[in-house]
Amino acid sequence: MQVSFAPAQEQPLQTDTILIIRCPHCMVGIDFRPLIAYKDGRFVCRDCAHTVRPGVPEYRCTCRKCLSAIWRISSGLSIKLEML
Ligand SMILES: [Zn+2]
Ligand SMILES: [Zn+2]
Repeated sequence: MQVSFAPAQEQPLQTDTILIIRCPHCMVGIDFRPLIAYKDGRFVCRDCAHTVRPGVPEYRCTCRKCLSAIWRISSGLSIKLEML
């Protein structure tokens, strides 16, 4: 049996449909853990409950690791300023 439609031109992989967002907190081997896509548009890490909303830059994840990272960054900045 022959396939009627001609194969489309090879295109560089678009990430529109297959969007892989990785958790910045969880390593799996040498890579970061891919987040699971939720129906409401969020991506959720099943290890640490980290969430990402692609296309919503003002979205802030409130998982424990992000909250502690914010604390670390702000305290790190003040340390750096003190060192200057
Ligand atoms: Zn995670
Ligand atoms: Zn998070």
